[in-house]
Amino acid sequence: MRGRLLRRIGIGLLVLLAGAYGLHRLSGAECFQLVGEVHCRVDTDQKLVALTFDDGPIPPGVEMVLPILDAHGTKATFFLVGEAMQRNPGLARRMLEAGHELGNHSYTHKRLLLRMPSTYEQEVGATDALLRAEGVESPTLFRPPFGKRLLGLSLAVDNAGYRTIMWDVEEGVGLTDPREYADIILDGVQPGSIVLMHPMFGHREVISKALPLIIEGLEERGYTMVTVSELLAGGGVGDE
Ligand SMILES: [Zn+2]
Repeated sequence: MRGRLLRRIGIGLLVLLAGAYGLHRLSGAECFQLVGEVHCRVDTDQKLVALTFDDGPIPPGVEMVLPILDAHGTKATFFLVGEAMQRNPGLARRMLEAGHELGNHSYTHKRLLLRMPSTYEQEVGATDALLRAEGVESPTLFRPPFGKRLLGLSLAVDNAGYRTIMWDVEEGVGLTDPREYADIILDGVQPGSIVLMHPMFGHREVISKALPLIIEGLEERGYTMVTVSELLAGGGVGDE
């Protein structure tokens, strides 16, 4: 009798654990989500690639990355945090005026899981308003903080007219050697790829030296760097 009860409790715990693990995996899935549009890359034969930069804006990151992109005539997509935009007025507009695309990366950059619906709406809406105030006519690209989302955030993103943009190539976290950092990205890129980098905080130093290697390496391989919207528009079917 007692053995059976214990077995049932054991099975129950296993089911709970499996469920929690499943939700954890689902919340970070690059190419799938429960509702709304998500893109981790674009299906195309054309050698197009989108470079995307997350977080900030903060002055040292922007001062580092904009001149490199400008020197190579490269356009990129920046996913910005509303709070940082407010603390650093004018930076987003500079990026926009330099021809780059700006996306929404939430307002506080908190992990947006298991919260009230109003929290999701506020996180998306406040940064949406800031992007519009900086001159983005109709922002439609959202990247979840830490890449994490479940039903609630995805619903709010969809309701606000946004699509979720993830990635299929990402930097080697913690790398300090520019050649190594660049090669991991260059080896991962294929036609239609979306590349994730973090130039504002931890990887700023390595990116300052690796970004020229990445841009030149992609050009040598015949790639054209475009914004995420251009990639989505030019690459045919976008869902994968
Ligand atoms: Zn982020």
